[in-house]
Amino acid sequence: MELKRQVMTAEILHPMHDFRPTPVPVEVRWDPLLEYSARIVAGARFLPPSDFDLESLAEQTREGCFFCAPRVESATPKFPPAIVPEGRIRRGEALLFPNIQAYALYSSVSVYSPARHYLPLEGMTAPLLRDSLGAQVEFVKAVARHDPGARWVSINANHMLPSGSSLFHPHLQAAVDRHPTTVQELLARVSGERFRDYLETERRLGERYLGRVGCGEWLASFAPFGFNELRALVPGVASPVELSEDQVGDLAEGIARALAVYAELGFQSFNLAVYGAPPGTDGYAMSVRLVCRSNLQPLYRSDVAYFERMHWQAMVDTTPEELAERARPRFRG
Ligand SMILES: [Zn+2]
Repeated sequence: MELKRQVMTAEILHPMHDFRPTPVPVEVRWDPLLEYSARIVAGARFLPPSDFDLESLAEQTREGCFFCAPRVESATPKFPPAIVPEGRIRRGEALLFPNIQAYALYSSVSVYSPARHYLPLEGMTAPLLRDSLGAQVEFVKAVARHDPGARWVSINANHMLPSGSSLFHPHLQAAVDRHPTTVQELLARVSGERFRDYLETERRLGERYLGRVGCGEWLASFAPFGFNELRALVPGVASPVELSEDQVGDLAEGIARALAVYAELGFQSFNLAVYGAPPGTDGYAMSVRLVCRSNLQPLYRSDVAYFERMHWQAMVDTTPEELAERARPRFRG
C-alpha cells in the first residue's frame, strides 16, 4: 500500500531573518482507509501543553454534580427492564445509566466511578477503563438482543469541557442507532483486505507502528483526524458488540497507555471513538481512535479552526512520526 503524502514549500521574506527569502514547509497526507486529507505544519505549536490547575476547577464543579455519589443514584435515569433488567449496569467502580438527553435511539453514560469527580489522565488506569468500557459493551450487547435493527454501535468519550463534555465528571458514552454517523458509514465501506494492507504496511515501515496490546494493534495515525491521534485496529472484530471480556481488557490497557502519553505531553482533554461496521461483517478490523483537545486555560486556542470545521481537514503541529517516538516506550513495555 502506498501511503500518499506531499510536502510543499511556501516562501516568505522573513522578518526574523532580515526579510531574506525563507522556505516554509507544509505537508498534506491522505488517510489510507477513508481517503480524507490532513495537513501537518510541523513545529507550529498550535496546541501548547498546559499547567492549568484542573484540581481547583474540579472543586468548583463538585457541588451539584449529577454524577457524584450519592446524587447519581437519584438524579440519573434508568433503562426500561426490557433492555436492562436492573435499570443500570454496575461493574467495579463503574456505573452505567441512560443519557438523560438521548443522542441516539439507545444512548448510555458510564461514569468511571461516582467517587472520582476529579480523575486526571495520569490516573485513568486500565482497571478503571476496563470496568467502564466493559459496562458499555454489556449495554450494547443488551441493546443488540433487544433491537437487532439498531446495528450502528459506538463507544465514545468527550473528556473534559474542551472536548464537548457538558459535565466535569469523567465518563464514557455509547450510541446505538438505526442510522450510521458519517464516519461509521465511511468506515463500513473499507474492506478487510484494505485494513490488513494498512496494518502490514505500517508494521513493515515501523515509523508509526507502536505495538500490539492483546487484540489491539496500536499506531500513530498516518493522516491524523486531530491532534496527537493514536489509534488501534482490532482485526477480526467488526462492532463493539462483538468484544469479549478479554478483548475489553486489552483495549482498556491500550487506551490507558495512550492516555498516559497524552498526560505526559501536557494534555487533559481528549475524544475517543470505538467503532467499525455492523456486527457480523466478515474479515473486518474495528477502530479505536483518540485525539487530544485544547487545554482548559485562559486565552486558549481551540484545536478546531476553519480547516477542521469548514474544510473537514485537521491541521496539526506534531508529525505522526514524532508522536510515535514519544508514545512507543509505553507500548513496548
Ligand atoms: Zn462529580
